[in-house]
Amino acid sequence: MDTLIKNGLVVTATDTYTADVAISGGKISQVGADIAAPAGVRVIDARGKYVMPGAIDVHVHLQLPFCGTVSADDFENGTKAGACGGVTTVIDYAIQQKGHSLWEAIEARRREADPKVCVDYGLHAGITDWGIAGKEMDDVVKYGIPTFKMFMVYKAQGWMAEDSDLIQALEGTARNGGMLTVHAENDSAINLLIDRNRGRAKELGAYGHALCRPNYTEYEAIRRAILWAEVTGGRLYIVHMSTGEGADAVKDGRDRGVDVHAETCPQYLLLDDERFKGPDGHLYGTCPQLRKPADQARLWRALADGTVQVLATDTCTFNTTQKAMWGGDFTKIPFGMPGVETMLPLAHTCGVGAARFSLNRLVQVCCTNPAKLFGLYPNKGTLAVGADADVVVFDPDRKVTLSHKNLQTNCDWSPFEGFELKGYPAVTLSRGRVVAENGKFVGEVGHGRFVQGHAWGKLD
Ligand SMILES: [Zn+2]
Repeated sequence: MDTLIKNGLVVTATDTYTADVAISGGKISQVGADIAAPAGVRVIDARGKYVMPGAIDVHVHLQLPFCGTVSADDFENGTKAGACGGVTTVIDYAIQQKGHSLWEAIEARRREADPKVCVDYGLHAGITDWGIAGKEMDDVVKYGIPTFKMFMVYKAQGWMAEDSDLIQALEGTARNGGMLTVHAENDSAINLLIDRNRGRAKELGAYGHALCRPNYTEYEAIRRAILWAEVTGGRLYIVHMSTGEGADAVKDGRDRGVDVHAETCPQYLLLDDERFKGPDGHLYGTCPQLRKPADQARLWRALADGTVQVLATDTCTFNTTQKAMWGGDFTKIPFGMPGVETMLPLAHTCGVGAARFSLNRLVQVCCTNPAKLFGLYPNKGTLAVGADADVVVFDPDRKVTLSHKNLQTNCDWSPFEGFELKGYPAVTLSRGRVVAENGKFVGEVGHGRFVQGHAWGKLD
């Protein structure tokens, strides 16, 4: 034994009980009552605190080249920020370039990430050229990247998948046990609205963004993707779902037995499109966009009742200088915001604290479900003997007023500035090493490792 977490309230996806957690060689070696600490063992006193599995943020874009700039949290700082917020694994994207192999993108991303990551990470393979990727998909699953991403938007950028690509990729997942994750928005409807509003860009300001991506541009694409999953028997996952109608569509699909899962993000639960009307409205530009309070309410219910299985962040940090590149034209906003560091404490305060769901449900949506769906379970996502000692000691009573000034992220603003939190990670351990204490990173650059996911990941 090298570390012992004493007297905490252990919280898993299903159970809550007082116990000690012993760690040996980066793994959990024992969970039980009154474990004695041999001499020389580091003891972490968790009395009055929760002991939870580390959170897994399955949707981050660290150092992503986008909109003529690169997202401001790189693999080093982005994973430090994660550690400070109780996130012990992130999954980023290796996005194929048209005319090139998936392997090139994967190898390039690994070269960027491996020396810098401070907690463990995995990758999704982003497919932009099905003609090439289709031949590589089965081997990519075997390599340990069982999840693929396709964009139903971004035609102008050369990223958009045609329906025929989606159908074939879903057929692939039915064969190889991978899962297709999709960014579901209707590209041509959005472009029509952008063309109609472009002339009024000056007058509309950032709110123009909200006018060009009404709810139907998302839920039409979600319904279409679910239909393709249904007719192919493929495995589908909707990323960053933002609309109430999207949640209804996922519920309908799941009720019919379609293998579809969905994720939503803190920004869609906690912020609405009134933000675009303020002087800093452009900071809140994301795709999809922030919606209405009714969507927030529906998504909270969906997260609580199982329609939505995963909370993730779509972290893509752009600071105010980068965001200023929009120059008053809503079509030029670099889309994205920071988030990996604040997901778990926000979900605790606004989910558990507001009685929207239980502590066990918090662990399900932030830790266990992502581990299961993305093929990392049972090594990650739970507190069990033999699992990686990715652990968060969470202080449910610590009060924090969120401000970018106190966060690790390389961002000079926070979408959640001023939010009053009750509960914050006190200690984060990654494979048994303490990597953050009270919101400060104390780990080591390069400690993180690439983790392989396995195929056929599922919840039960
Ligand atoms: Zn994203």
